[in-house]
Amino acid sequence: MSARVLDGQALARAMQEEIRPEVAAFASQHGRPPGLGIVLVGDNPASEVYVRNKLKTGSEVGFRADLERLPPSATLADTLALVDRLNRSAVHDGILVQSPLPKAMGADAEQRVFDSISPEKDVDGLTPVNVGLLVQKRAVLVACTPSGIIELLDREKIPIAGRHALVIGRSDIVGKPMALLLLHRDATVTICHSRTPNLAEVCRGADILVAAVGKAGLVTASFVKPGATVIDVGMNRVTDPAVAQALFPEGHPRLGVFRSKGSVLVGDVHPDVADVAGALTPVPGGVGPLTVAMLMRNTLRAATARAGQPVG
Ligand code: NAP
Repeated sequence: MSARVLDGQALARAMQEEIRPEVAAFASQHGRPPGLGIVLVGDNPASEVYVRNKLKTGSEVGFRADLERLPPSATLADTLALVDRLNRSAVHDGILVQSPLPKAMGADAEQRVFDSISPEKDVDGLTPVNVGLLVQKRAVLVACTPSGIIELLDREKIPIAGRHALVIGRSDIVGKPMALLLLHRDATVTICHSRTPNLAEVCRGADILVAAVGKAGLVTASFVKPGATVIDVGMNRVTDPAVAQALFPEGHPRLGVFRSKGSVLVGDVHPDVADVAGALTPVPGGVGPLTVAMLMRNTLRAATARAGQPVG
């Protein structure tokens, strides 16, 4: 059996096309486009790529998308002051602080910065207010990656209600909101993490398996019930030839990418899972583009709510 590929890239493009006329309508009604301010502190190369994608997509759908950069030497106070400026800005409806912040800023810096974002501009759904609203099933702004996954399952007509959904990972940005969204859609939900014993065996009970771990190829075919839907959130850059060779058989196109570039982006799901799963998101081209598309949708929602209009 070979799993159906769930094409996140194609869905993200379709969502952008759906959003574009709504953005144009907002701009003509309010005399300005919806505005997104992205805060990037430091020079993490992966963050540079993610932020570039978000800015590019924002401009393509018609947003005002501003990059607000701070140097690696920036302090927590500098970052909080920048978020405060964006909170008070009339032209910015959404604020995204790109994670991770530089380590030198301190262990609790990220939490303090996220906490300082106005909930109505919190397009990543990370503030305590929006997380609380999510728990109570009445959030307007929900974390982009998990809400993109729900959108994908819906559009691919993969039933959620009554299914056993299992999430590996319990981060605030992916694992926990993913589990809550699946619960709100009447799945029976299990959350696994680094202290879960017999992980493969537990996972084999899942109809929908979401891997949000950050470990290349952790989820092998032995984790997967035949026919299950497998969602691969992981984005891991492999630079070790032995790891690349263990993941991909000779002749696999991704091994070719590794050999020509010296690195390759891989998910948490081993390629062998394609032989067992019923449906599977690829990496790249699965969850990543959906995350960006949901950021666009959240920014439009935030703009609409700030303008006092009902949010659809
Ligand atoms: P994170 O905060 O590091 O959380 C990882 C989770 O995985 C933790 O809950 C951890 O358990 C669990 N874990 C670690 N090793 C494990 C193991 N051997 N077995 C079972 N569970 C294990 O990561 P994150 O921010 O959620 O991101 C996860 C992955 O998704 C990363 O690769 C990240 O780059 C990617 N990501 C992709 C997108 C996208 O748009 N595609 C968006 C966000 C994140 P403990 O809690 O016990 O430590």
